[in-house]
Amino acid sequence: MSGRHKRYVFVIDLSKCIDCTACMVGCKAENTVPLGHWRNWVEEKGPEGTFPNLTMRFEPGNCMHCDRPPCVEVCPTEASYKREDGVVLIDAERCIGCKACLEACPYHARYYDETKGKVDKCSFCAHRLDAGLDTACVHTCMTGARAAGDVNDPRSEVSRLLAGRSYRVKLPEKGTGPAVYYVE
Ligand code: SF4
Ligand code: SF4
Repeated sequence: MSGRHKRYVFVIDLSKCIDCTACMVGCKAENTVPLGHWRNWVEEKGPEGTFPNLTMRFEPGNCMHCDRPPCVEVCPTEASYKREDGVVLIDAERCIGCKACLEACPYHARYYDETKGKVDKCSFCAHRLDAGLDTACVHTCMTGARAAGDVNDPRSEVSRLLAGRSYRVKLPEKGTGPAVYYVE
């Protein structure tokens, strides 16, 4: 094997999202996310067009597992960190609940868990990933709008989905290098 680094990313095909929110429910169940909080979301965009040809678009999202994550930069205890494969995680043992990362994240991808006094967010289902499984949101998406994998592996599904297509990221002007790529 070469010394090539893995880089896990999400690819979301906006043309396939029907706003069923199965990804949100799947994530919540998998990760025991407390009542009133979610690790992922589906934003409604629109209506677009002119009557009677109006369309809605649905944009699923979660922590962008940024290349240059401001949440990691501001964390005073190094609880927030980025793995070599690009996955951004929180070490709950180290988190003191200061919420600096909540302020720093331009995507509002984090929440404060009042019961634990700690911050939490999408973990890229690292426990599943490391066991060779899909993330819960990818697994539960019935239309195949979500894919996740190693973008540095040309044979991966995400690489095949991106090949020859243009994609966009959220808030590129923030310079965070988001790893959730949207295709239409
Ligand atoms: Fe950090 Fe927010 Fe980027 Fe996730 S989306 S890595 S929480 S800055
Ligand atoms: Fe770090 Fe926790 Fe403070 Fe966030 S709330 S900056 S993870 S110590």
